[in-house]
Amino acid sequence: MMIRTRFAPSPTGFLHIGGARTALFSWAYARRHAGSFILRIEDTDLARSTPEAVQAILDGMQWLGLNYDEGPFYQTQRMPRYRAVIEEMLAAGSAYRCYMTPDELDRLREEQRAQGLKPRYDGRWRPEPGKTLPTPPVGMPAVVRFRNPAAGVVAWDDLVKGRIEIANAELDDLIIARADGTPTYNFCVVVDDWEMGITHVIRGDDHVNNTPRQINILQALGAQVPLYAHLSMILGGDGQKLSKRHGAVSVMQYDDAGYLPEAVLNYLARLGWSHGDDEIFSMSQFCEWFELDHITPSAAQFNTEKLNWLNAHYLRTVDPERLESLLRVRLEARGVTVAASPSLAAIIALHKGRVGNLNELANVAEVFYIDLQPKAELLAKHLTPETFAVLSDFVAHLPDVAWESGAIGALIKDCVARHGLKMPKLAMPLRILLTGLEQTPSVDALVAIFPREMVLKRLTAVSEARHSPTGCS
Ligand code: GLU
Repeated sequence: MMIRTRFAPSPTGFLHIGGARTALFSWAYARRHAGSFILRIEDTDLARSTPEAVQAILDGMQWLGLNYDEGPFYQTQRMPRYRAVIEEMLAAGSAYRCYMTPDELDRLREEQRAQGLKPRYDGRWRPEPGKTLPTPPVGMPAVVRFRNPAAGVVAWDDLVKGRIEIANAELDDLIIARADGTPTYNFCVVVDDWEMGITHVIRGDDHVNNTPRQINILQALGAQVPLYAHLSMILGGDGQKLSKRHGAVSVMQYDDAGYLPEAVLNYLARLGWSHGDDEIFSMSQFCEWFELDHITPSAAQFNTEKLNWLNAHYLRTVDPERLESLLRVRLEARGVTVAASPSLAAIIALHKGRVGNLNELANVAEVFYIDLQPKAELLAKHLTPETFAVLSDFVAHLPDVAWESGAIGALIKDCVARHGLKMPKLAMPLRILLTGLEQTPSVDALVAIFPREMVLKRLTAVSEARHSPTGCS
């Protein structure tokens, strides 16, 4: 069997974490079995669907690298097809027109509630052998209802949740077309899953209640019923349903926050799925391993610390050229012009084991390229008369030192020794003057990645300030 999966988001907001995980699992399952992955935009809810939300979905998929083989298909462009199938069902007797007005339906529901019954359509327009139907009111628009089987059960072996059975007596005759002729949500899903040849419907378990209705309609159409895998929801770290309260909900917010897509993908893959104790793996490994029977039916809990840990890992191990281009884009977006020297590659090599995300990396990298103004309180704290003397000594020897970290390190040691001081007395002023930061990688390596002239300039700018009438020495 050729596997065909789909991701079928409704474009009413962002591509959120839950949706991205659904997309990832559907994508991976198709990849695992050399099948096809289809993107379908379920945009029939015109009041809630927006072009911006469609774009957000496409952007999110692209950022994650979840490429699709077919689509995006838009349900709003398939209306004639849905209408045609409704006509076929009416002709075949698996659907019927119902002329009950919304008022009548409300009254019926009230009566049912008053009698302690579950409110449901009473089937008054449902054709039955030997039953005489009321005369259709003239000029009154009808809805179309699916003629749900009256007896028996509808059952499926959910690939995550196991066997699920619902008695047909529990199911109303679902409206499949509204009075204005527009098809309803469940019906469009059915027609699309059928005509797109979907073999595996992998989706959130908020759709479990729709599945028995969809299966019944598929069967009425004589369609092959796909297999279903309903993914449990994702909870926030506090055990509550994941929502905006938990911070980033849109996938693209993770991009903004400096996460690498590979970290987010790896993280999402482990939300409810496991492969032994493997925590860190590539998407090609994931696609090799991914089977639906390794998905847990219990809810997954979002753990930001773990995501951060993965992100730091990928920052350390990602291809240096890719990291450089990602960082360059981020710096340029901040208005920072990346000069040829100091080289961005050297800055990255020095810092990448020390940062948790791309923004932190950009923070430490930008100081190399901007007109640095270290904070006055840091200057006051670390540039005392004592440290100023050792700094001046260091500056005096700078023009002659071999420009590599070993020689620079030796010079630093000599200077502090000559002044009877401990290492931080020179290292801290150097850090502050060169980067404005109290924490940097080893100071000799830090000095060495700057061009010599730039170090002299940054160190003497302050010494000049200190010797000016307004300076503090
Ligand atoms: N459009 C639905 C949603 O965004 C998904 C429908 C489905 O996967 O069957 O929740």
